Amino acid sequence: MIADDIDQALQELEGNKLLRKRRVIASPCTVQAEVDGRSMLTFASNDYLGLAASPILAETAAEAARRWGVGSGGSHVVTGHMQPHEALEQALADFTGAPRALYFSTGYMANLGIVPALAGRGDAVFSDRLNHASLIDAVLLSRAENIRYRHNDMAHLASLLKESKAKRKLILTDSVFSMDGDIASLPALFELAQAHDAWLVIDDAHGFGVLGPHGQGSMAHFGLPFHPRILYMGTLGKAAGVSGAFVAGADNVMEWLLQRARTYTFTTATSPVIAATLVKSLELIREGNHLRERLFSLIERLRAGLSHTRLEMPPSSTAIQPVILGSNETALLASKALADQGILVPAIRPPTVPKGSARLRISLSAGHNAEDIDRLIAALKALQEAGLFYR
Ligand SMILES: *Cc1c(COP(=O)(O)O)cnc(C)c1O
Repeated sequence: MIADDIDQALQELEGNKLLRKRRVIASPCTVQAEVDGRSMLTFASNDYLGLAASPILAETAAEAARRWGVGSGGSHVVTGHMQPHEALEQALADFTGAPRALYFSTGYMANLGIVPALAGRGDAVFSDRLNHASLIDAVLLSRAENIRYRHNDMAHLASLLKESKAKRKLILTDSVFSMDGDIASLPALFELAQAHDAWLVIDDAHGFGVLGPHGQGSMAHFGLPFHPRILYMGTLGKAAGVSGAFVAGADNVMEWLLQRARTYTFTTATSPVIAATLVKSLELIREGNHLRERLFSLIERLRAGLSHTRLEMPPSSTAIQPVILGSNETALLASKALADQGILVPAIRPPTVPKGSARLRISLSAGHNAEDIDRLIAALKALQEAGLFYR
């Protein structure tokens, strides 16, 4: 039979509790998702500010569709770069304080574009071990030497940088680690970049819109200004509630990416509807201090509510709050037990996280309220008392 080996590989995934199943969501993205005819309280989306189903953004999108139609018809470098895309890139540069910004269709594509455009054979890329899959793939695509340092371990990174004789060096890091929620020490990374003549690429997928004054992101959170050595990547499908991503940095580097980032050049520009909607989303982010305040008070409420339990919760001050359970099976059982109570918290397993560190990944949103958090706390405590978490 054709592809017998594929069947076998799929069965193996199933046997190892690694098979991923999709749910069909029959409602807009809010904290109440309709799944299989049931309403579930969800702690699963990256819609940190609750903007994904914003009526203001939906109205902006509808107007933009009437004004611009829905397709761009081409790549940015041919005829796909329309006024809404240009306005968005300008708005992104203004908002972040960067000299210039370039809009990509997704964060995954932005990362796949940046790294190979800047590094190749003879160069070296230094990556935090817990970096997102898109950064890992970007390094492989670049053919540069792939050097990984222990998570957030600056001494380890410093020694690796010191040893390296590569022509060009790039340091790559998530700012907020996507499965752990902790924040990279960007000032220390920048210092190392300076000391070793390296570039620093910051992936702020989970910080943009959430951290820093007005949600400007993780660089602003640390008061780290733009510098010709820094490339900042933010995604627009998470806190911004829409989709897409951008890279911001020095003028000449952005020009180089426009010329040489293949995921910018060789792909159809995103719909002008999305670009126009994102301009409005940036306004909502800028004016969204009340949303961030609510989010951070909910984060505190959750951590305080679970602080006297034996649940293993790594120190995270962000909207990503993992509960480490270890085995894939325990994580799936816990997720299923919560689902039985109408609460959706995804189980995250390898290869998304290292082997033996399967977990529940709780994502909070400004769309939640205090009662939602209390319901989750009570459910987790009940599971713990029932002995579900002990291996
Ligand atoms: C989600 C994510 C991406 C990918 O962004 P998309 O726009 O969803 O493709 C990249 N990096 C990190 C750290 C992410 O969490």
